[in-house]
Amino acid sequence: MIRRPDSVTFGAAVSTQHQRALGALLAAAALGSSGCVSEPSETGRPIGPGPDVVLISIDTLRADRMSLYGHTRDTTPGLTRMAEEAIVFDRAYHNGGGTLPSHMTMMTSLHPRAHWVTPSTGRTLPPERTTLAEVFHRHGWDTAAFVDGGWMAPKFGFAQGFDIYEDAGGGGFEKVLPAASNWLADREERPAFLFLHTYDVHSQTDRLPYECPDGGHWRYLEEGFTPVGFDGCRDGRCASELLSQLDAQLAAKTLDPADALGPTEIEWMKALYDGCIRWADDQLGEFFEHLQDLGIYDRALIVVTSDHGEEFLDHGRLLHHQNGFEEIARVPLIVKLPFGGGGGRRVGELAALVDLMPTLLEYARLPIPEVAQGTSLRPAIESSVAVRSDLHVFSVLRGPRYKYFADTGDVYDLTKDTTETEAVADLDADLRTHLQERLWGLVNRDIALQEALDQGLEPPRTELTPEERQELEALGYLVTEEPEPPQQQPE
Ligand SMILES: [Zn+2]
Repeated sequence: MIRRPDSVTFGAAVSTQHQRALGALLAAAALGSSGCVSEPSETGRPIGPGPDVVLISIDTLRADRMSLYGHTRDTTPGLTRMAEEAIVFDRAYHNGGGTLPSHMTMMTSLHPRAHWVTPSTGRTLPPERTTLAEVFHRHGWDTAAFVDGGWMAPKFGFAQGFDIYEDAGGGGFEKVLPAASNWLADREERPAFLFLHTYDVHSQTDRLPYECPDGGHWRYLEEGFTPVGFDGCRDGRCASELLSQLDAQLAAKTLDPADALGPTEIEWMKALYDGCIRWADDQLGEFFEHLQDLGIYDRALIVVTSDHGEEFLDHGRLLHHQNGFEEIARVPLIVKLPFGGGGGRRVGELAALVDLMPTLLEYARLPIPEVAQGTSLRPAIESSVAVRSDLHVFSVLRGPRYKYFADTGDVYDLTKDTTETEAVADLDADLRTHLQERLWGLVNRDIALQEALDQGLEPPRTELTPEERQELEALGYLVTEEPEPPQQQPE
């Protein structure tokens, strides 16, 4: 049982009746989940002043394309340097969905099916929910976010708890990092919580599938090289738009992966993508140097992660509309503690984005909301002690050895088949039943929590403006739908 340091009283936001319903749910959930629920503290107050906290999400950053995670191209020398003073999680995962639900999970410690803020529901975060930024703000932290638009727009509820929530609208680190630097330099004495987000390694509707400033995408290719007969466009569609259209056909099985893009085209796209990772890494390296000049870096808690990976026909799809397989589900997770404690360690224990909020709040010595579904990773960070036995990515269960996909019934043994090439053919029937029941237990817990949290509320909804729709289409969304989270509760 992981002892939580404190707990937020959410009575101001949820009625007594709902608290009772939630209490019963949470007690039941604690029995079946890897997370634990603590007793409320007596004071509900922080123990003392905490560190500056910086959370950085590089959207669509696939872990195995980073040299820090073994990629042969030197794509992340800056993060590798950072890792000398940080703890690196080798088996970290998002909890389902694309940019919007995945980041909302980071900010609320609720699984996507529990917060239910996804493109397909049209919902936004009710003000009654408690966000990570709100807890920091409530306890005296200055809070600021500099994000890159699209699904990170404030209208979905992300701005809740931030003093400043600035949308760079696709400008990437070129806009985000200077704005963050200026904000940090102008601050007063209070500690800071800073959230940064960029689409620099995300596909765009530019001429090439992946492009970043200064020609960074060409780094691993001779300038101007394109595969014969393919420059990123086909039949008037380019980049994200083309890839999305192809992916929609792949999803509908009206197009064979072998006919979508050839091996040379795929390698070319991977090289462009890798070049943008290196470009983003270089920018981040300079930003960290600036934090050092400001006297912030050493004493800050800094986390770098991503909301999901990217697929290059690894499992017959493109972009990141398909969840569950390692290329999408696994994310980088690098945690630098204040003054580099534990630096250089690799952690093989399972971790999930739903755990970020409890982890950051525990290190900041702040109360963790009682409804948080994640578990602080502190025992894993400091002692390599497992804090969870498994996790779920929408309707996929990731255990220490097996991964179970509810939609196909396939099970992969990740100790023997790291690329998930061949489903286990002769899986013990009892084990299969166990995996199924475990997954649906977790999903049903999420659904029950969402229903309890929604009692008495009319969940706010939003519609996209034509401009927002255009911006999202430029990122490759809406042409194909986000994966639908599980909604049934099979008996
Ligand atoms: Zn994303």
